[in-house]
Amino acid sequence: MTPVVDKCTQNCEFCWRITPADVGVSWNQVDVTESDVIPVDQLMDEVLMANLRSLGGYNPETGASVQERMYKEARNPRHVAISLAGEPTLHPLISDLIDEIHHRGMTSFLVTNGTRPDVLQTMSLPTQLYLTLAAPDEPTYKTLCRPELRDGWDRILTSQELLGSLKTRTVNRLTMVANRNMHDARKYSKLIEMGEPDFVEVKGYMYLGSSRARLDQTNAPPHREIRAFSEKLATLTGYHLLDEQIESRVVLLSRSKQIKKL
Ligand code: SF4
Repeated sequence: MTPVVDKCTQNCEFCWRITPADVGVSWNQVDVTESDVIPVDQLMDEVLMANLRSLGGYNPETGASVQERMYKEARNPRHVAISLAGEPTLHPLISDLIDEIHHRGMTSFLVTNGTRPDVLQTMSLPTQLYLTLAAPDEPTYKTLCRPELRDGWDRILTSQELLGSLKTRTVNRLTMVANRNMHDARKYSKLIEMGEPDFVEVKGYMYLGSSRARLDQTNAPPHREIRAFSEKLATLTGYHLLDEQIESRVVLLSRSKQIKKL
């Protein structure tokens, strides 16, 4: 789910959401006030209802070829992924939302672009926190992520420095876009060493949504390139290459060989 679908501090070329430049219309992209949002308990009720609605066609009792066990499992989610589009740390009640999720007995993960270190420092932490690294250096960042904030890169560095001190499981997600940011593995490795995340997830950009008007299919790297880049990062950082999923073009690196299951 995403609590802030149309606002973000960046306008990444690879983003699936519509950005103001796509449609030639401007809107305030960074301010969200409490009067813009609904109470978090109501929000979670709606999220769970939307999940149930999305499963409508999968009911085995109405003939869908889905195992009953899987259908029942999907109707009772145990985990909330706060991700997808928009920057969730712009939500004024993000801590309350995380607390509400945990209060309901579910785990949470949250993906941030790292431009709100002030929020990361004080918010209720999710079960697992992802910080996206989409560039090895500031020039690449400015071209690819087109930040709304002049000091966007410095803020990401501050968040990355903070990452190691946060008392939760942490991940750097590298969104890899061919011919745009798949260079300078050494600089990425320095950033990773700065944050010492528990995991690094190297993920290929998928040619989907509104990003198709900004990029083309050749910017979506094949899995073998993701794997090769991940191997370079593993050598440079000492992280262990633990897993991969070819369909999603993603490779998982881990600081430790032993993963503590949650
Ligand atoms: S940080 Fe995420 S939500 Fe924001 S523009 Fe980039 S991809 Fe889209």
